[in-house]
Parts: sequence; C-alpha cells; structure tokens
Amino acid sequence: MASIFTKIINGEIPCYKVAEDADYFAFLDINPNAKGHTLVVPKKEVDKIFDLDKDTYTGLLEFSRKVAIAIEKTVPCLRVGMSVIGLEVPHVHVHLIPLNSMADIDFKHKVNLSKEEFESTARTIAANL
Ligand code: 5GP
Repeated sequence: MASIFTKIINGEIPCYKVAEDADYFAFLDINPNAKGHTLVVPKKEVDKIFDLDKDTYTGLLEFSRKVAIAIEKTVPCLRVGMSVIGLEVPHVHVHLIPLNSMADIDFKHKVNLSKEEFESTARTIAANL
C-alpha cells in the first residue's frame, strides 16, 4: 500500500507544498515542532534512509540543503536543524526544523499554526528557493 507521503506526492492528500523536482518533494509537517518545520522526501518510496541507493541518498541531502537555506531566509531562527528520526511513516523523510532553542528539536515540543500561517510560510519558503 502506498505510504501517506506517496499519497501526498501524488496529490491524493493535500499538503502545504514547499518544493518539488523530478525526484524529491518538500512540504510542511502538519504537526510542527516549530513554524517552518518541513519534511523532505524522495519520491521513490523506501522505508529507511540508509537503504536508499547512493544517488538518491546524496540527492536527498542536496535537495534538503536548498530547502533549508530557503527556510532560514523565511523563518527567524538561529539555524535550521536536520533530523532523520521517527517510526511512524515507513517512507524516508528528513525533518528540517528552524531552531531558536534546543526545545525546538524535541519532538514532544509542538506549536499550533493556523491554515493561513501554514499557507504563507509554505509560499514564502517556496519564493525564497
Ligand atoms: P515520524 O515517522 O518522523 O515519527 O513521523 C512522521 C512525521 O510526518 C511527523 O512529524 C508527522 O507530523 C508528519 N506527518 C504525518 N502525517 C502527515 C500528513 O498527512 N501530512 C503532513 N504534512 N505531515 C504528516
């Protein structure tokens, strides 16, 4: 069965899209640790990051770097943190999280954003790419 992220990539489930190319897709995490928390995924559905073929793995990191630089231009933060963590969705995903304190990388630390905040954040990150 297709993962929830494959359904997002295919447009079957809505998301706040940030960026896309032929191989990768970036969108805002629906339950963010901080404003601007973004997930970057390979379109190829693979469960675990170190099972990716080398080109997809290095391409994912390069794509994540571009998105992270755009996030840093968009959301006031000390830096953008990166984490590959979690057991929930069996589809490789890189978390990019604007950090103002170490609490922001704690996955028990969540913020509530309005639909308008999600939309404007995604739009601005995309514009800053
Ligand atoms: P993990 O596998 O990293 O524990 O969890 C997956 C991450 O994906 C979580 O941060 C969760 O909030 C996010 N997530 C799960 N389902 C959806 C969804 O339908 N849309 C979006 N945008 N994010 C999701």
